[in-house]
Amino acid sequence: MTAPVFRFAPSPNGELHLGHALSALTNQKMAATIGGRLLLRIEDIDVTRCTPEFEAAILNDLAWLGMAWEGPVRRQSEHFGEYEAALERLKQDELVYPAFMSRGEIRGAIMEHEASGKSWPRDPDGAPVYPGTDKQMSKRERQRRIDSGAPFAWRLDTAEALARLPGELNWREWTDGAMTVTADIAANAQQWGDVIIARREIPTSYHLSVVIDDALQGVSHVVRGLDLYFATSVQRLLQQVLGLPQPSYFHHRLVLGPDGRKLSKSQRDTGLAALREAGETPDTVKAMLGL
Ligand code: GLU
Repeated sequence: MTAPVFRFAPSPNGELHLGHALSALTNQKMAATIGGRLLLRIEDIDVTRCTPEFEAAILNDLAWLGMAWEGPVRRQSEHFGEYEAALERLKQDELVYPAFMSRGEIRGAIMEHEASGKSWPRDPDGAPVYPGTDKQMSKRERQRRIDSGAPFAWRLDTAEALARLPGELNWREWTDGAMTVTADIAANAQQWGDVIIARREIPTSYHLSVVIDDALQGVSHVVRGLDLYFATSVQRLLQQVLGLPQPSYFHHRLVLGPDGRKLSKSQRDTGLAALREAGETPDTVKAMLGL
């Protein structure tokens, strides 16, 4: 039997904080529990916000915490070709369409709708779902707009993707970090609407690169924060339409700030580097996290 594979996948667009430490250490602990391998993946597709300096700081913070992983580190920015190939397949299968509405146009359409007293669906992150208006556009008009240099994004035709599935869409979630029990969770990809799969300037998106990488790296166990729980629906749908294997998932609790909100990369006092400078040690950090 092949060993289970875990991965910690930070984005180098800021410094690691206590929430990342919990994620990294939970991955390490769960991998150790079942004799799994642990990989590190740098999710740096957003080349405007991710920097080599943040990446170096991440590697430094993880080493300080005592984390070890199996090399080589996979850097997403070095694999755009693999994501483009998957995007090409989705285009061939007519599961994505070019969406031309700008943020302002989307806002306008929704305001108009809501002005008539009707509500507009929001996704689990609270953002209004994309009005699938340009899904109806003719091939010729799409091509004309693309050729004219109009900005657009490739969006998933979620309804069509769901219609092509042989049955119900769900995922396997470990109900506890000790990995004793799993539950089948019903995925609800519709609630996200037609998500962005790739942009004109970046030929991929978070969802697309995550599912491709998890498959290419043979990841069997995805361990990450509860903030990505609902994103699993979209990722399961992509795995199905691309014929990729399905990992099992564990979404761990989030570390909240004193205001009860999720930590952000701009809150410097919970950053691992700041804690280190303030004299904390890996052991006191673990104690803060209840580990
Ligand atoms: N790169 C994502 C983040 O830093 C994590 C992605 C994942 O674990 O699926 O939030």
